[in-house]
Amino acid sequence: MEARLKTQSLSAARLGKNTQPAPSSRRDFLRLAGIGGTALLASGLSSKLMAFSPQQQTISPDTVAQMRAAGATAVLKTEKLRDQVYVITGSGGNVAVLDGPDGKVMVDSGFGTSEKQFRAALADIGSEPLKLLINTHWHFDHTDGNEWLHKAGATIVAHENTRLRLSTPQDIAAYHLHFDPSPAGALPQQTFLEQNKLYLNGEVLALEHYRPAHTDSDIFVHFQHANVFHAGDTFFSGRYPMIDRSSGGSIAGMIAAADHTLSIVDTSTRIIPGHGSMTDRQGLQEYRDMLVEAQSRIAKLKQQGKTLDEAVAAKPTADLDPKWGKVGMAPDFFVTLVYTTL
Ligand SMILES: [Zn+2]
Repeated sequence: MEARLKTQSLSAARLGKNTQPAPSSRRDFLRLAGIGGTALLASGLSSKLMAFSPQQQTISPDTVAQMRAAGATAVLKTEKLRDQVYVITGSGGNVAVLDGPDGKVMVDSGFGTSEKQFRAALADIGSEPLKLLINTHWHFDHTDGNEWLHKAGATIVAHENTRLRLSTPQDIAAYHLHFDPSPAGALPQQTFLEQNKLYLNGEVLALEHYRPAHTDSDIFVHFQHANVFHAGDTFFSGRYPMIDRSSGGSIAGMIAAADHTLSIVDTSTRIIPGHGSMTDRQGLQEYRDMLVEAQSRIAKLKQQGKTLDEAVAAKPTADLDPKWGKVGMAPDFFVTLVYTTL
């Protein structure tokens, strides 16, 4: 079983590398790059963290460096969700923290340049030392703080593909972003393929790998006693999601991931999305229904033989945009991501 899954996971990673959508023309490149500036807002880089304007027409090669630099002045906010589970927002993806006598557990690590603010936020929650860091997937806005947190005492746990991708050069083609391998201290020390369970602080943490959705490294973390669920970037609350085709992501995978989460959570579960506001099963259901509707409409256009440009120009999400397209990703870019991963 494990061998089969490992093969499947690793081949998914290889497949992802081979299917990067190379811009087919200069016009495509500019459109992707131009809209990408706005889209990055949705991938966790709140306007406060953006070093460039959403209207900027190209993403410069040092965009990642600029975003990391902006993380140095990020203002973090801590909210207690239930029992000893907290969420810290404001630097990269949403970060969950479990506090208790066995030591703190963090889920995702934000930007490394926000170390000072994270140290202060963790100290405010309690004096227990940090013991574990779990990564929901490999993206830099969820793993950039790994190195300092490991130095501070955290053992890092993640899916095997998170370690694989962090330890090798990566590109996110839709955003024209390139990442060199992460330093050894930033790599997960413990990995798993399908499921993992951790028992700390009177909690049961259920970890499980999704089939490729946002990337091929996505996992969820369910704090089962507190009934708090971190869905990683399979869930962007109240906004269109980023889908990373370069890492094996697809709209069908995103829908399957949302359906899987819906099969686990109940009406009292507090859900932490990778990006966006804390929500619940109803918020996830609405997001899932939006994804299904968008997929259906865009697939129809593609089946009719419409090119990407024609599909985008048809504005297939126009009536959904007031609810989902106001914050973060521009609707045209979402249509592009869906079309290219169908
Ligand atoms: Zn992500």
